[in-house]
Amino acid sequence: MPVFTPQVSFVIPVYNEESNLPMLVDRVVKIMDQSAIHLEAVLVDDGSRDNSRQILQQLALSDPRFHVILLSRNHGHQLALTAGLSVARGSEGVFVLDGDLQDPPELMDTFYSKHKEGYDVVYAIREKRKEVFYKRFAYFIFYRILKKIANIEIPLDSGDFSFISRRVVDVLNKMPEESRFIRGMRTWIGFKQIGIAYDRQERASGDSKYSFGKLVQLALNGIYNFSEFPVKFVMILGGLAISSSVLYLISVIIKKMFFDQVIEGFTALLFVVILFGGIQLLAIGILGEYILRIFFQSKSRPNFIIETEILDGQVNNELEI
Ligand code: UDP
Ligand code: MG
Repeated sequence: MPVFTPQVSFVIPVYNEESNLPMLVDRVVKIMDQSAIHLEAVLVDDGSRDNSRQILQQLALSDPRFHVILLSRNHGHQLALTAGLSVARGSEGVFVLDGDLQDPPELMDTFYSKHKEGYDVVYAIREKRKEVFYKRFAYFIFYRILKKIANIEIPLDSGDFSFISRRVVDVLNKMPEESRFIRGMRTWIGFKQIGIAYDRQERASGDSKYSFGKLVQLALNGIYNFSEFPVKFVMILGGLAISSSVLYLISVIIKKMFFDQVIEGFTALLFVVILFGGIQLLAIGILGEYILRIFFQSKSRPNFIIETEILDGQVNNELEI
């Protein structure tokens, strides 16, 4: 028997956040104590190597409002979030935030009341970012490029921090794609969505758990999953190469016929050979990327593996995989 039926679930992925957990838990507990609705907090341990796992286990055993799942290894933020969404029980929806207190949990009330006005998705727009200059710049450029090339209207500067209604969570849970860009999938689903501006805080402590490689991978997932631009780009490049070679040919013929000039071709030849070699390799690379994505998807592996779930203060190690 569940101790209570939550109306809203907080979903928080955690990876090596032992230094942030005490403060995060404090702030979430305060919100739960004061809230007029039933809340649960789903904390997903994404294969942490510090003490986060132990802290979360203890927490879920002592306070049944905390619903903890431990993944079998580090699956990455997007999949940890996916795992959290799959177990969240909130009957009205979920409130997604990061575990490093960059997204203030206290905004729950504001987001929830917007949802009550009839919005299925209430997403946060990062007005100001307290982050190093190059990261802010990279985010700025990425979101603007994505907006230009994506075939859906992904809002600018919105991350995963959001309130998502139950029916949208249900759709997300049914989407089997393995390379996940959740903010894009959330937009793709539709219904009524609205953005709320907020100042993104600095990470409370510790370093970012998104390595440069993971961040690039996330950006590429956004581009490949929500835009046909890479393929079109190859076609444009091909078109440009063909038209420039035709122009070149015409100029050679004209020079020969009217000015009796024979073109000395070695440098031009070398240039063209290298150019075309490069274009072809690029094209193969882009096609390869699509094939790779089809390959990974076709394996149909589960997107994440839950090793342990602690629900209503009870430990469950025998989960269906
Ligand atoms: N995170 C995770 N798995 C990872 C990387 C990050 O669960 O492989 C969590 C992390 O603990 C944090 C959230 O995802 O709660 C966002 O990560 P982070 O703050 O490092 O990203 P940033 O804010 O620097 O983009
Ligand atoms: Mg962060």
